[in-house]
Amino acid sequence: MNSESVNKERHPDRGEAQAWSVKTHALTRIYGRGELQVRALIDVDLRIAPGEFVAIMGPSGSGKSTLLNMLGALDRPSAGRVWVAGQDLSKVRDLGRFRSQTVGFVFQLHNLIPTLTALENVTIPMVGQQSRRQRTERAHLLLEQVGLAGRAGHLPGAMSGGERQRVAVARALANAPAVILADEPTGNLDSASGQELIRLLREINATQQTTFLIVTHDPNIARQTDRVVVMQDGRIVREDNVGSPLHEDLKMWHYSRLGQQIMDGNLEDLKGIVTDDEERRAIASLLQRIDDFS
Ligand code: ADP
Ligand code: MG
Repeated sequence: MNSESVNKERHPDRGEAQAWSVKTHALTRIYGRGELQVRALIDVDLRIAPGEFVAIMGPSGSGKSTLLNMLGALDRPSAGRVWVAGQDLSKVRDLGRFRSQTVGFVFQLHNLIPTLTALENVTIPMVGQQSRRQRTERAHLLLEQVGLAGRAGHLPGAMSGGERQRVAVARALANAPAVILADEPTGNLDSASGQELIRLLREINATQQTTFLIVTHDPNIARQTDRVVVMQDGRIVREDNVGSPLHEDLKMWHYSRLGQQIMDGNLEDLKGIVTDDEERRAIASLLQRIDDFS
């Protein structure tokens, strides 16, 4: 191995890191020291593509919030590196700016300021960046986007939990961040409001290509994402792609009578559907390997 490739191994290529919306390399966070030391994250390598909608699952204490805090620069790693939207967080000078411009946060508890109206809460991240009129205009637009055009003047206390959480989403979107980090955003909602919130996040994801990382305990929500990252004891222990139409189709075939016959090597019945020999063999081989995809 020449010195250049050794170097690359230690410091992943900058261009490669910039192709990802989120990338971590050997990310580690250790709290405390000595007897009380907790290894909350250990050697986590994660890559999230721009526009991906990813669920993070895992038992309580597995490091999910710690991971999100690292990605949002709310806390510093003990070791390893983090890139968000191509920026190496160890080199970002103005972390305040990064936190308000590049990422948006949604927490389990909405964290709205109770004495400010919905509209005022949404304008906060924009303070100091645009004129008051521009901020108000954009906040109205964002409230409309989350379905709360009629609630601009309401205080958080006068809104339902689901509505408050949607205000929090509007606030997270204020500066059009590349990535939204949501830590159990539906944790305090009933299942209908939770479902509605996820539908809203997916819509934002589809129309604005915002990348989403959502910590959730709810398998119903995880099922509606592109990928589920499962954590345990500070490590990523599994990653599942979900919801790919091809995968769902294959699974249906796999369990069908026709699928069983095809896997048994009987490609006759398939002739009526797929005329090309090569294609029939490809389908049979995909069906046999269905477990590789799930
Ligand atoms: P999760 O969000 O998956 O429930 P966390 O990331 O909050 O897990 O915590 C991971 C581990 O780190 C847990 O053992 C937790 O007790 C510990 N931990 C989290 N924050 C701190 C902290 N500020 N000081 C010490 N230990 C912490
Ligand atoms: Mg947590």
